Amino acid sequence: MDMDEIVTGGLCIGCGLCQSIAGPERVRMVTTPEGRERPVAVTPIPDEALATINAVCPGTQIEGASPEALPDDVETDPIWGPAVPSTLSIAHASDPVVRYRGAAGGVLTALGQYLLRSGEVELVLHVKASPGAPLRSLATVSETPEAVLEAAASRYGPAAVLEDLGGVLAHGRPLAVIAKPCDIGAVRRLAEVDARAKALIRYGLTLACGGASDLGKSFEVLDRLGVREQDLRLFRYRGHGNPGPTRVETKDGRRFDLTYLEMWGDEAGWRIQPRCKICPDAIGEAADLVSADCWPGGAPQGEDEGFNAVLARTRVGVGLFERAVAAGALTVVRAIGFRDMDLFQPHQVRKKRAVWARLEGMRAAGMAVPRVERLRIAELAVGNDKGVNEEEMLGAQKRARAGRLGEPPAVFNE
Ligand SMILES: Cc1cc2nc3c(=O)[nH]c(=O)nc-3n(C[C@H](O)[C@H](O)[C@H](O)COP(=O)(O)OP(=O)(O)OC[C@H]3O[C@@H](n4cnc5c(N)ncnc54)[C@H](O)[C@@H]3O)c2cc1C
Ligand code: SF4
Ligand code: SF4
Repeated sequence: MDMDEIVTGGLCIGCGLCQSIAGPERVRMVTTPEGRERPVAVTPIPDEALATINAVCPGTQIEGASPEALPDDVETDPIWGPAVPSTLSIAHASDPVVRYRGAAGGVLTALGQYLLRSGEVELVLHVKASPGAPLRSLATVSETPEAVLEAAASRYGPAAVLEDLGGVLAHGRPLAVIAKPCDIGAVRRLAEVDARAKALIRYGLTLACGGASDLGKSFEVLDRLGVREQDLRLFRYRGHGNPGPTRVETKDGRRFDLTYLEMWGDEAGWRIQPRCKICPDAIGEAADLVSADCWPGGAPQGEDEGFNAVLARTRVGVGLFERAVAAGALTVVRAIGFRDMDLFQPHQVRKKRAVWARLEGMRAAGMAVPRVERLRIAELAVGNDKGVNEEEMLGAQKRARAGRLGEPPAVFNE
């Protein structure tokens, strides 16, 4: 598929890896009018680069964990995939500042900091608010624990975290990537075709992901508050508490807080991107370790001190988890099981069970679908009531035919 086909087919999530592979002189990420990061081929892409893009793009290929990465004591749950039971836990960053500023319990930030402090990696590639335009999110490379903390908490809008991965690898320094499950999947596939990525990307850490919103969702918030983007000093989606407010601050000193439920209570208003609606792996099966929210029922009842549900999947992830706990970077509160994860993430359970039928619906409508491997989606669909699969398939087919699973082509304006 060429870049336009991936984008108009509703398969692009805007990770930016195609720009990194082809180079910004050939592929340029742009922000679309809907508020999505999308690639545009500004000059023809050589066949070899296009083949690599097709081999790694999370719009065309979605794979679960590599069997060779998994330890002997791994268990594979039909919904949650592979995880080592001894790591399934409620945990939080031991440092109270990290715990407070992190999205939930600050586990990912604490792990990024631990990896730098221990010297296991020299760089952490992740995402932060753009300093000059805090509504927007930027890829960032942190070299110090302080910089990792600066980028703590969730950025729910578009974030092309991999757009300069090649530039980061060119430093020749070992790194960890903290990013969404689709980003981590892309990094894993890159490691299969790029020796530098294989040698240097030592860890892929992720979050459970309900979907990335269009930037339009954030603009709606500004409209509601009567704030212009150029007047913003701060736009923080969450963190500074668990979940913490969505906080908007202006340069002239105005401050607004929205609760998590005011921001996300109505699922119909999430404005999540088309690729997310058919995501076969929103729970990070290709990652070494996953850090998620752990509110029973999937929504916060109020604020708490900050906790994450954590699971490590690979040998590398288990080793990291155990060393970080032993070093005092993470505090484990209690052990949990896969069925606790169901309770914390009912929307992930629903989606994992529905995805196979949604992809079949797209296919029936004549749309391209990604290649999906080692994610058990067909097996899960077999376990559904027949009516559920039919409903999901027909719904997706109808949405596809109405153009709601595709997107307009992205346009580059110099
Ligand atoms: C789009 C999105 C959807 C989410 N949906 C769910 C959900 O359905 N269920 C759930 O349990 N949790 C969800 N989360 C994750 C949740 O908000 C917490 O981030 C997660 O529990 C990890 O918490 P933490 O305290 O360990 O993270 P922190 O310690 O705060 O670390 C978060 C890390 O993630 C990186 N990051 C933040 N946003 C992005 C982004 N957009 N792309 C790449 N990297 C990013 C940051 O740079 C930081 O390193 C979502 C997060 C995002 C960004
Ligand atoms: S998902 Fe990533 S690699 Fe694929 S087209 Fe979009 S930006 Fe490029
Ligand atoms: S739902 Fe899937 S495609 Fe969408 S941002 Fe999350 S991991 Fe990526």
